[in-house]
Amino acid sequence: MQQVKQLIAGQWQQGMGEVMADVINPADQSILATQNAASEQQVAEALASAQQAANEWREVPAPERARLMFSFQHLLKQHHDELAELLAQDTGKTFADAKGDVWRGIEVVEQACGIASNLMGETLENAARDIDCYSYTQPLGVCLGITPFNFPAMIPMWMFPLATACGNSFILKPSEQDPLTPNRIAELFIEAGAPANLLQVLHGGPSLVDRLLEAPEIKAVSFVGSAHVAEHVYHKGTQHNKRVQAFAGAKNHMVVMPDANASQVVNALVGSSVGAAGQRCMAISVAVLVGDAKAVIPQLQEEMAKVSPGRWNDPDAGYGPLISEGSKKRVVNLIQQGIDEGASCLLDGREWQPGEKLAGAEQGNWLGPTLFSDVSESMAIYQQEIFGPVLLVMTVGSLEDALALINRNPFGNGTSIFTSSGAAARQFQHQVSVGQVGINVPIPVPLPCFSFTGWKGSFFGDLHAYGKQAVRFYTETKTITSRWFEGDVAGAPNMTIHLK
Ligand code: NAD
Repeated sequence: MQQVKQLIAGQWQQGMGEVMADVINPADQSILATQNAASEQQVAEALASAQQAANEWREVPAPERARLMFSFQHLLKQHHDELAELLAQDTGKTFADAKGDVWRGIEVVEQACGIASNLMGETLENAARDIDCYSYTQPLGVCLGITPFNFPAMIPMWMFPLATACGNSFILKPSEQDPLTPNRIAELFIEAGAPANLLQVLHGGPSLVDRLLEAPEIKAVSFVGSAHVAEHVYHKGTQHNKRVQAFAGAKNHMVVMPDANASQVVNALVGSSVGAAGQRCMAISVAVLVGDAKAVIPQLQEEMAKVSPGRWNDPDAGYGPLISEGSKKRVVNLIQQGIDEGASCLLDGREWQPGEKLAGAEQGNWLGPTLFSDVSESMAIYQQEIFGPVLLVMTVGSLEDALALINRNPFGNGTSIFTSSGAAARQFQHQVSVGQVGINVPIPVPLPCFSFTGWKGSFFGDLHAYGKQAVRFYTETKTITSRWFEGDVAGAPNMTIHLK
């Protein structure tokens, strides 16, 4: 049986701490690996090693650090299919979806290849008489990343490639539910030429996270996960004087105007709500139909009913299983609560049964697509992030009502509008209190040259992931004010002659 290893001081080691839950294949409950958390001694060793790596790596020229990213990108592309297959077994995602998870990470590594120009500071000659001012960006030291289960390739790669390209060392604490993919990515990083101790990978649960948040060696913390943990990490990290960016949960609305193209709307709603079993922080979980747009409901119901979950290598699978039995139970309970609270369940995923293709995998965490209409704001299915293949439909009278609904929601990760009216789209993009907006694009995840800019309860901190904001997050600015007295040139005759 495979053991999940820790990467400490350049060595892959077995965890010497507490026994953790096994890593389970969510498609059939088979055990993929066993794992122990890092022990206190291993954590201390990793922190000391990461500190040493940070002291050395900051002296490596930026173009050389960029060259590591070029090699890493090359290796990731070579191993794209292999990584996706591993990820698909780790998470249950379909192969196409797993490839997308890896690809999104590769795109961030590509951004890190251009780190030298992103690190450039500012200059001002003659800021005062004989005085010039200029700034440098310098690395912080040791940075920490704590990542969730739902993107085990992309989210670690939102973090450590940019942090290390900026001259920091990095400690990654991946989700305990699917640690095999981040471990393989770390192996490739070293194979690409990273100093063996530049990236440490520690596995463990909440107590390891708390231990690391208290460690004085760690200067900055990037977290992605659920809302209450994000808030905890933000408060604890900042209490210990660290810079923290914490990405949290979501409830993403898609507004459909009556003038939108109905089949585009249905396609977009089905794919963005049940894709990846709804386990995406940018999944659309609420369709807000404005006025006559409600005519789309029967077509939506029909198309959603055609989607089936399946194994990662089944080309007909719309999505995979939920990550764990616990997740499935939570979603199933919420569906029941929705019915009890009076929402109309147009499609109940609990009735979906695995067919012949899933012979031997009936115990997987399967759940069919679920569609609710007549949903109101006070219902638990609206108030909580469901994180399952469940779409809620709400109807409103106007674009203003849709905006008011979305702006009242405590989350603000992503939203979109489907319309053929430029004026409606413009009003929406301007007035909506959400950080990432799609116009006829259901899941508007920004490319890595921008940043991932969730708002409100979906984000704690100020500088966001990847893009220029991440470079600022992983560096400090040093500003230099320099005066050279004019008369002193006479004291350097050789130089004067040389200049002539
Ligand atoms: P999670 O909060 O359970 O776990 C995330 C990480 O925190 C894991 O590494 C876990 O070990 C650690 N952790 C869990 N409980 C902890 C505790 N009490 N104290 C300290 N650390 C703890 O999240 P998850 O279930 O793995 O991921 C799904 C969640 O992540 C969803 O809410 C989703 O919306 C969110 N998410 C958000 C974004 C975003 O960009 N906003 C992106 C992806 C996922």
